[in-house]
Amino acid sequence: MTRLALLSLDDALPQLLGQAHALTAMQTVSTFDADGRVLAQNVVSALQVPPQDNSAMDGYAVRASDCVTAGAVLRVTQRIPAGSHGTLLSAGESARIFTGAPIPQGADAVVMQEDCEALDAEQVKVLKAVPVGQWVRRSGEDVTRGATVLTQGTRLTPAELGLAASIGLAQLHVSARPRVALFSTGDELVMPGDVAPAAMPAGAIYNSNRFFLRAMLKRLGCEVTDLGIVPDQREATIAALRHAAQHHDLILTSGGVSVGEEDHIKPAVESLGELNLWQLAIKPGKPFAYGQVNRDGGMCHFMGLPGNPVSSFVTFLLLVRPFVLALQGATKTDMARTEMTAHFDWPRADKRREFLRVQRNAQGGLDLFPNQSSGVLTSAVWGDGVVDNPAGQTIAKGDTVHFISFAEWLS
Ligand code: AMP
Ligand code: MG
Repeated sequence: MTRLALLSLDDALPQLLGQAHALTAMQTVSTFDADGRVLAQNVVSALQVPPQDNSAMDGYAVRASDCVTAGAVLRVTQRIPAGSHGTLLSAGESARIFTGAPIPQGADAVVMQEDCEALDAEQVKVLKAVPVGQWVRRSGEDVTRGATVLTQGTRLTPAELGLAASIGLAQLHVSARPRVALFSTGDELVMPGDVAPAAMPAGAIYNSNRFFLRAMLKRLGCEVTDLGIVPDQREATIAALRHAAQHHDLILTSGGVSVGEEDHIKPAVESLGELNLWQLAIKPGKPFAYGQVNRDGGMCHFMGLPGNPVSSFVTFLLLVRPFVLALQGATKTDMARTEMTAHFDWPRADKRREFLRVQRNAQGGLDLFPNQSSGVLTSAVWGDGVVDNPAGQTIAKGDTVHFISFAEWLS
């Protein structure tokens, strides 16, 4: 099935994500290694955190009723460093206590050492009145026993690893990594290292897409098989696709998705499965292909990105990123848009929705990269992100625009 109509991103994305059924395979990994992975199960706590009431300060544990007025003098009858525990504290007594140590029975507040005067080794003067509960961290104030602390579909970040460890989990159940085969098409492409810059033949260019696409897939938790450059020939393209489909969940290509004589992706995928060629109403990045390559007993997803580097970069972030996250069962696949002020003019409205490469400036606004051509990769390096500019919209200095940060998008 082929379709050739200018499709809006808002229409394309749900169609695409509708195909991205989460892979069912699950994996158990060390909590140390779970950064960036997607949780395959809810995480429920079997204990309270903190496990007991404990001190938030170095100081003295007291009974607040002994310190209703400033200047109370108490006997120091025990010493409780972190990692140990005390005994019952009676009226008129205090315990030397340190941050994280459990509050002894009978005590109900802590006085920080700066608010005390040690009279001698056995007596302390409390310089201020003490309210009940002062400087006490309550048992369960972080996590209560039985609480769901992390939900299935969460993409783990360092904070989540710490929280999982705090409830005693050395391992986590995560979704399997999508297996992605990557290849570049284009007879003009040369690999850095194969040919020195001074020796580049006329018409040749270095393959840049391969480097950032591979890196982006890895950041998103994929296991990447890099199949290199496939020549602009129908048979070679078919052979590469057939081979890749056997052991992968997704084949990702760049280049060759237009409908020129040298664009072999469309007939090649169609001969092995089906392809939808989309003309997306976005700039950069109009041509985009989604399809399926059949294999024994199943199929492999296919996504074809345009060859122009910035088009490839932006369509990856807009379409491939949410797709591979959805394959991992991630619940959040969309990107936050922040309202910011344009410090530039964009007087020519485009029929397509544009993703303009911009940089945040020290005044809290956005500057525009002067060359927005889809071949100029410098714009993506200079830029901190893009302005998501609706179709038909001009921008004047001072206007509020929607900014998407590369740092977040690429994370
Ligand atoms: P295509 O989509 O194959 O028509 O390619 C569009 C433009 O992108 C052409 O100028 C190609 O030379 C360029 N291009 C295609 N693939 C790559 C690549 N992997 N790295 C850098 N530029 C590329
Ligand atoms: Mg090409």
